Amino acid sequence: MTTTVRIDQHQLFIDGEFRPAGSGAQFETVNPADGTLITTVARAGEQDVDEAVRSARDARRKWRNATPTDRGRLLLAIAAQLRAESEALALIECLDNGKPISQARFDIEYSARYFEYYGGLADKLDGYVIPLGSDYHSYTTLEPFGVVALITPWNAPLMQAARGLAPALATGNTCVVKPAEDTPLTILEFARIARECGIPAGVINVIPGFGEDAGAALVRHPLVDRIAFTGSVETGRIIARMAADRLAPVSVELGGKSANIVFEDVDVDVAAFNALRAINLNCGQNCSAGSRLLVHSSIHDAVLDSMVALERGLTVGPGLEDPDVGPLTTRDQYQRVCDYLRIGREEGAEAISGGSALVDERLNGGNFVQPTIFAGVTPQMRIAREEIFGPVLCVLPFDDDDEAVAIANDTDFGLVAGIWTNDFSRVHRVSAALEVGQVYINEYFAGGVETPFGGVKDSGYGREKGLAALEHYTRMKTMVARV
Ligand code: ADP
Repeated sequence: MTTTVRIDQHQLFIDGEFRPAGSGAQFETVNPADGTLITTVARAGEQDVDEAVRSARDARRKWRNATPTDRGRLLLAIAAQLRAESEALALIECLDNGKPISQARFDIEYSARYFEYYGGLADKLDGYVIPLGSDYHSYTTLEPFGVVALITPWNAPLMQAARGLAPALATGNTCVVKPAEDTPLTILEFARIARECGIPAGVINVIPGFGEDAGAALVRHPLVDRIAFTGSVETGRIIARMAADRLAPVSVELGGKSANIVFEDVDVDVAAFNALRAINLNCGQNCSAGSRLLVHSSIHDAVLDSMVALERGLTVGPGLEDPDVGPLTTRDQYQRVCDYLRIGREEGAEAISGGSALVDERLNGGNFVQPTIFAGVTPQMRIAREEIFGPVLCVLPFDDDDEAVAIANDTDFGLVAGIWTNDFSRVHRVSAALEVGQVYINEYFAGGVETPFGGVKDSGYGREKGLAALEHYTRMKTMVARV
């Protein structure tokens, strides 16, 4: 591989400066495609977290009092600079996270879109007037919380951070970001870009480090006014509990086991192609992955045949080669997916494609598994109920709409669902009955930064993206005057 990737930022970003951890501690970040060390990064401890939060706190008045137009312009400048540096950022993301370079490029563009979208909204946040008769004047304003803590996962590192940063900053909050310890690199480059664009010191702080120390210290910090978490259900519960101790508002966007429902009136090959895309994008490491494919029994076998043929043509390899499927991002995740492949077989499901780790000398040391399709899956199997977070598709047949909805809802999760049909009455009926935060109709992953996103049930609560996110990052104040 001849591509060289420049990595300049390895330190904490606190109060507008890059600096080592107070303790001098560092941790390693590893290339998931071959297991080699990419670089070492400063590891934030409690003292560093405290300094980052205090810096954000000190910066908050000036930032909230800046004109919304100025805040918006700064965000738009960041969007432009992300685009100007998109190739370099995509290469770093590809190396650190493992995703295919074209998907990394997509993530950087999506990150830029967040800053563009919320930059444009910064000066359009009105309150309203409440009519109480001529003796009173009452109106509302939307205020920032103050210091927002963003704890982000490793599956789309910059994009996940941008999703919280852009609306939080647009509405006048200052931020402390704790990226996942597995993928700290792009968000540090982002901090450099934000500083070059003129973001004042303290408005954005980035503290790479581990969850149990840096993450927990951030959640517990008394000067953090709001918390947004994206990650696993288990950690989401821990964070929500810690936040509850001091009544800090928190939103948690967690896992999924989303049903992608294919009705009998659609083109089999189109359904098959899209079902694979819904599970294999980012190597299945999407909370919204279409991991349960529900297919009407009349086309079940035809869809399976088509998927098996398509999956045979998929390329798997290092992200820099831009394959269809890259490595899993972490060694733990690789182990976890391998465990589920074994569990699926033990439960009696049939791997009609893939089914094990990828054995290929060229890919030694990397976290590669075969994209897998399990047929003969029943709703009670663990592989049908638990989030695998890998390129592992479970196929379940159904006979009518009611059964499809029943299977789709028979899960602890409730993030998204997909529907494939040309019957629009059915679209509305089924969408209404699905217990999820959003429904993709005739295109999985449809939508963009504009469309609200979040879960029900164990998939969490709160809505990110779109106008809905503004409610996350502002609180309403009501004034009532006797006149
Ligand atoms: P995974 O298990 O897949 O790594 P997590 O949900 O644990 O996913 O991680 C998501 C983010 O939460 C990461 O930034 C991680 O460091 C952070 N995190 C993990 N545990 C804690 C914790 N106890 N408190 C705060 N943050 C945490």
